[in-house]
Amino acid sequence: MLFVWGRWRYDLVAITALLAVVLTGLVPAKEVFFGFAHPAVVTVAAVLVIDAKDGGRMEYRWGHDMREDGFRDPPLPTVTISREHGALLRKRVGATIEIAIDTQFSEAPTANVVAELAGDLWPHEHLVIGAHHDTVFGSPGGNDNGSGVIALIETARILNEWCGATGQAPGRTIRFVSFSAEEQSLQGSAAYVEDNYAAGQMPEPRLAINLDELSAGFIKGLVLGFPHLRGLIQQQFDTMGDGLVCHVMPQLDGGSDHFSFFRAGIDAAHVWRWRFHASNPDALFHHEAADTADKINVRELKEHVGCLARLLLRLADVPPDRWPRNDITAADVGRQLERERAGVARSR
Ligand SMILES: [Zn+2]
Repeated sequence: MLFVWGRWRYDLVAITALLAVVLTGLVPAKEVFFGFAHPAVVTVAAVLVIDAKDGGRMEYRWGHDMREDGFRDPPLPTVTISREHGALLRKRVGATIEIAIDTQFSEAPTANVVAELAGDLWPHEHLVIGAHHDTVFGSPGGNDNGSGVIALIETARILNEWCGATGQAPGRTIRFVSFSAEEQSLQGSAAYVEDNYAAGQMPEPRLAINLDELSAGFIKGLVLGFPHLRGLIQQQFDTMGDGLVCHVMPQLDGGSDHFSFFRAGIDAAHVWRWRFHASNPDALFHHEAADTADKINVRELKEHVGCLARLLLRLADVPPDRWPRNDITAADVGRQLERERAGVARSR
């Protein structure tokens, strides 16, 4: 998810002191703000979010739709305060308050890491499984996204061992990608798509599966952005016999690295878990100091990895002529995003 801390100029921060809007924090901020996402409808100078969690816990938030063009330069400064400070503020409705914010902005080089398990039947075709290895400032990144990277590396290890033990290889190549800078507007995955596929450098992947915040419940299945692979993936789940289900998001989800693939018209999916955050207190840890290593649920991760490894092997062996065609272009996606503008139901 997006990292904006430190992006605001001091004059913008000063405007924040005028506080045009104070939100309760009881409604998920991401959902409330979508109406503000387009610069044409921005009527406030800044937004102050009161975090819904108690005990002084706060996570950073933003006030824009990450799916918008130009989303790396969000139009609306957003500041989060604790629930307790929010309670104090609510007693002073109508008052002008002043908030001092110390920000820093720095630039640094960063890199994606890519590994491949070569296919033997159709080596020039590939699947991607990826997870972002960065986290937000001030967070150890346990659930977000130590969990996803652990699952990525362990899936790679298991499949590699399977190749060695059986003397077999997946039918099509499997690429394991650890993305950087996801929290800074999906920059790592955007660069990966741009550098590998945008100009036809290599064939687009048949499917990219994104692992993000996997300590939010046992695996329930996969969620696709585009519908045409649903039948194929459900067939694989049915042969696995674990009751996993393939769904399609009603709108393109911009909450993590899968969106960089959607944008280019590439089939992508994220993992569907039983407890999305906000619906269960123990799945609420991300983007905050309390997202420590103990938030990683190892038992759940083992189940994720077992399912993902088996799914990848099955998908790698589906013959090309049985794989549903993907005719979606980046222009089609642009039109879809335009239709969905300001109507987003949820982000992840
Ligand atoms: Zn994440």
